[in-house]
Amino acid sequence: MTDYSINIHALARDAGIAIEDCPFEHMDGIVVRLRQRAFVGLRKTADIRTKRYALAHEMGHVRDGTATSRYCLLAERRADRLARASVIPEGWLRRAIEDGHTEYSVLASLFGVSEEVVEQRCKEVFNS
Ligand SMILES: [Zn+2]
Repeated sequence: MTDYSINIHALARDAGIAIEDCPFEHMDGIVVRLRQRAFVGLRKTADIRTKRYALAHEMGHVRDGTATSRYCLLAERRADRLARASVIPEGWLRRAIEDGHTEYSVLASLFGVSEEVVEQRCKEVFNS
């Protein structure tokens, strides 16, 4: 079976982002920018799907320049949109569906994300 899961950790490392497991209890991830370098902390006890998505979300903040800003709903939504697009590229999603994978649960495991992320990404891509 085709592997659709993006190696998001490798993408982060290629972008020079440092990743560290942290003893968070109430959040999955955080990004801190020091000079030109971004550091992402991920909740140590999170499952791999949660960690992948949290990392993609924090990379979204790095990409759109909101890594240092205080909490802002719009910035959070943008980071989530960027995260969904990076863990589920549109072409890959279309290919997976053409290959017959039409259940959210199956797509979630193929892409290594939660069903909720798949559902939202499908809504974005297919405008439904
Ligand atoms: Zn955020």
